[in-house]
Amino acid sequence: MSFPKGDYKNIKLIEGLARRAILDLVPYSSARSEYVGKSEILLDANENTFGSAVDLPSVCSHLNRYPDPLQIDLRNKLAKLYKVNSNQIFVGNGSDEAIDLLLRVFCEPGKDAILITPPTYGMYEVIANVQGVLIQRANLSSDFTVDYSGIKKTINSKSKIVFICSPNNPTGNKVEFSEIVKIAKLTAGILVVDEAYIDFAEQDSAISLLQRFPNIVVLRTLSKAWGMAGIRTGFAIAHPRIISLLQKIKFPYNVSSLSQATALRALDQKKFLSTVVAKIKTERARLSEQLSKNPDVVKVFPSDASFILVKFKNSNLAFNKLNASGIIVRDRNNTKGCENCLRISIGTREENNSIIACLNSSTNSNKSKKIKKVAASE
Ligand SMILES: *Cc1c(COP(=O)(O)O)cnc(C)c1O
Repeated sequence: MSFPKGDYKNIKLIEGLARRAILDLVPYSSARSEYVGKSEILLDANENTFGSAVDLPSVCSHLNRYPDPLQIDLRNKLAKLYKVNSNQIFVGNGSDEAIDLLLRVFCEPGKDAILITPPTYGMYEVIANVQGVLIQRANLSSDFTVDYSGIKKTINSKSKIVFICSPNNPTGNKVEFSEIVKIAKLTAGILVVDEAYIDFAEQDSAISLLQRFPNIVVLRTLSKAWGMAGIRTGFAIAHPRIISLLQKIKFPYNVSSLSQATALRALDQKKFLSTVVAKIKTERARLSEQLSKNPDVVKVFPSDASFILVKFKNSNLAFNKLNASGIIVRDRNNTKGCENCLRISIGTREENNSIIACLNSSTNSNKSKKIKKVAASE
């Protein structure tokens, strides 16, 4: 995807939203990123040229060397996958790093704001608080759809970044594509569309909107559908001028050699992705149906993600019951809008059966002694 000349003025304006300090910044330049050509004797980075304490040749060679700061191979591969240019891709230590850097690029502490639509992913708020950035809230409607008129009322010249999470964590529902377009039109700042769970949804990616709206940043991650949470690798996909601002302020070696090499291999496993996504969707439907029959369950919210949000008559009772059987789920009872709700990651068939059986059992002293864990992470 290449950007038409016509958006130049537009992107200039968007780039101009960045903090003065970032626009003026002289970035750290690692010796390796300046060097082009074939190198024989590398004595520029104070690496240990005798070798590495541990060698993992089956993953990647030369662990004594710093990783590629520009992640060329990985970005080229992602560019093909997402049908964009490699200069439209930022690779981070998880997509959480991209969220952090976006706030640091665009939001002046104590002055600028992000706009979020609670209940939503908690890290937007945490990162804003760390950076001293104001938080504007336009709550989701009671059915968890985005409240466009609420956003319209809340958004102002302070709103540097609007975060839309689709499918949304923890509610599970996607934001309709037409709504995302409406919000993109409304936003003079940056619109981040967090697509951590899009592989589980019937939904077009906002990547297809990048050309029309150069202020959109799409977030993707290897942590969910690809099953690679352990390597901490996530991406931001956006206009090259936005990506270059992220590149400018990232730590030079933000993604380890192990992560880059492993990510490259993971991305070849398209079959794994489609198989696992299909299984999770099947289990999502089955678990939702089974739990909705449970008399202690008030509602299972429809999900386009790899988890379901379940409202109980008393979520503390359900949580403790699951805990007593060694099943860990995410308690969202204290989240406004999610009272008495638990967020349950879709497990394997056996894990889901354990949840169903545990919640159907009448006492806390559950007979199942098997310890089953359902990932409690984000
Ligand atoms: C899990 C999650 C992320 C973070 O993913 P990482 O790449 O592991 O940092 C981002 N956004 C949402 C909504 C998530 O649930």
